[in-house]
Amino acid sequence: MFSQQFNHNLIKNTVSQSLLTSETDVNKCLNKTQFSSQDLSILLSPNAEKQLETLAQKSVSITRQRFGNTMQLFIPMYLSNECFNTCTYCGFSLEYKYKRKTLNKDEIKQEAELLAQKGFKHILLLTGESPKHVSTPYLEEAIQIITPLFSSVGIEVQPLEQHDYQTLIKAGADKLTLYQETYHKESYLKYHTFGLKRNFNNRLDAVEKGAKAGFYQINIGALLGLYDWRYEAFAMANHLDYLMKTFWRVKYAISFPRIQDMIGTFHEPYPISDKHLTQLITAFRLVYPDLGITLSTREPKELRDNIVTLGITTMSAESNTSPAGYTDGHYEEQFQINDTRSLKSIISMLKNKNLDPVTKDWDMSLMPH
Ligand code: SF4
Repeated sequence: MFSQQFNHNLIKNTVSQSLLTSETDVNKCLNKTQFSSQDLSILLSPNAEKQLETLAQKSVSITRQRFGNTMQLFIPMYLSNECFNTCTYCGFSLEYKYKRKTLNKDEIKQEAELLAQKGFKHILLLTGESPKHVSTPYLEEAIQIITPLFSSVGIEVQPLEQHDYQTLIKAGADKLTLYQETYHKESYLKYHTFGLKRNFNNRLDAVEKGAKAGFYQINIGALLGLYDWRYEAFAMANHLDYLMKTFWRVKYAISFPRIQDMIGTFHEPYPISDKHLTQLITAFRLVYPDLGITLSTREPKELRDNIVTLGITTMSAESNTSPAGYTDGHYEEQFQINDTRSLKSIISMLKNKNLDPVTKDWDMSLMPH
């Protein structure tokens, strides 16, 4: 299991090395045609930041070679805002007393039909983490309702066991998203004050339970702003290297969501600048040419438009972060969306940038049986 190999001191040393990288080392590295994960510490160094333009050009070229001009679009759909954890940065935290909602079968169908009518073919189902309200049988049923309407169904729910994931794959789910939030254990315990989520290793190892269960794609990530972004980057790279080596059949993707000031009480202690976010995206593209990279609607419209060509392969559109948010809209949101444009307007922006927006490039029927 990855938790047995996770080495905090090694990551800390990589951060220190990165900060000391010379301009000569950066130039030497940028002259390469192929990059390894060892190069990440050079590409994320302060001296590489000065060469962001070169990083961006290389990243664009690799992305177009590997993914063509395509941009996969998906829509998130929240099934529940019940949660039995207290994460200090989240609007669904148990400590907030407001009316909670878990969609019933009819509401799931209604919401999903509306999203399918808008033209989305890929959907990501999200919940808070409350095994009592959102159990494996509940998720299984929700997926069974939704699967006939979409060509790809992803889930972002509480960490589960391998057999639970197998049940959900059988019901029709093909993608698993599970963010560690922060890979820095000490900070992790500070932000996750109560509930099952306090178990750092359980979350870390759930990803590979999903890989063993047979998900087609797995998306990992860290919520940037909770701890030093370089530490998170090197930890994510270690995690990816482990997963890619151990479960090589799985397709991997990564997200770099930046934390929002949630309901006015949380302010990110380690803000990451637009420039550093761009450095992160482009450096990961160089080191992992086939990695899916997702860009969140948490980011403002202007930034999304500026960085969308640089290495991103997947974007959400028209997102809403509350249950029944598309049909009803009366329930609490997990966080605020910054890019509120419609699917139509996102498609038009992408076309203006010579990108081909796709709502479908994968169908469960293509899975080997
Ligand atoms: S981040 Fe997830 S687990 Fe934490 S309070 Fe929010 S919904 Fe619950």
